[in-house]
Amino acid sequence: MSAAVTVEQVSKRYGARWALQDCTLEVPTGSVTALVGPNGAGKTTLLHLLVGLTEPTEGRVSVLGASPRTDPTHVLPRIGFVAQDHPLEPRFRVDEMLAVGRRLNPRWDESLARDWLRERQIPLADRVGALSGGQRAQVALALAIAKRPEVMVLDEPAAALDPLARREFLQSLMEAVAERELTVLMSSHLLADLERVCDHLVVLAAGGVQLVGPIDEIAASHRLLVGPPGDE
Ligand code: ATP
Repeated sequence: MSAAVTVEQVSKRYGARWALQDCTLEVPTGSVTALVGPNGAGKTTLLHLLVGLTEPTEGRVSVLGASPRTDPTHVLPRIGFVAQDHPLEPRFRVDEMLAVGRRLNPRWDESLARDWLRERQIPLADRVGALSGGQRAQVALALAIAKRPEVMVLDEPAAALDPLARREFLQSLMEAVAERELTVLMSSHLLADLERVCDHLVVLAAGGVQLVGPIDEIAASHRLLVGPPGDE
């Protein structure tokens, strides 16, 4: 299986602190991969390297065959990114946010995102600040989908949501995956959040890759999977 994302011997240092140390992993094309690890494990740092928000201190990162930092015009328009806590401007209306993307990305499909949100009963004329957390998460997902991405990177997208909104969000994401060729890398503190939707797993701890591979193979050998804590 080819890899949509490769990370080779990557380390990232902030001042005196190493956020990542000698990380090597691949995200297979077409996989839905969970990136799990405790607070401070380096998940956000790794995801930011993939979307070009920062660059490695050492090592190489490749997404869709190119470096997000040195070849951004080739790579970045093809990556959908849902940032942690969905930092959306609260004063903008949802339809205004959908319209802005047209000027930034030639791949932008505004009507796809509009239809997507209408199907989920998200009010397009409302300001983002008036939406619930679950609705904001759906808007963040729709903004990523509007790019018609080949790779989707999501940073703890459901962490702050209540159990119902979390389920609805993950359901939406799975529908997006089912409708198009998409490689997904999604972080969480808890594997239990993601185990229902992921087929591959990367476990980070203290800046290092502890485990990587197909989730069923890892689960069989490590007894990692546990039921979701009280959200069923
Ligand atoms: P969380 O689950 O809490 O979001 P994480 O697994 O996403 O954690 P990171 O946010 O990548 O982990 O942080 C990894 C380490 O790097 C932490 O020790 C953090 O304090 C440090 N770090 C991250 N970003 C910066 C920065 N911009 N400047 C300095 N240190 C940073």
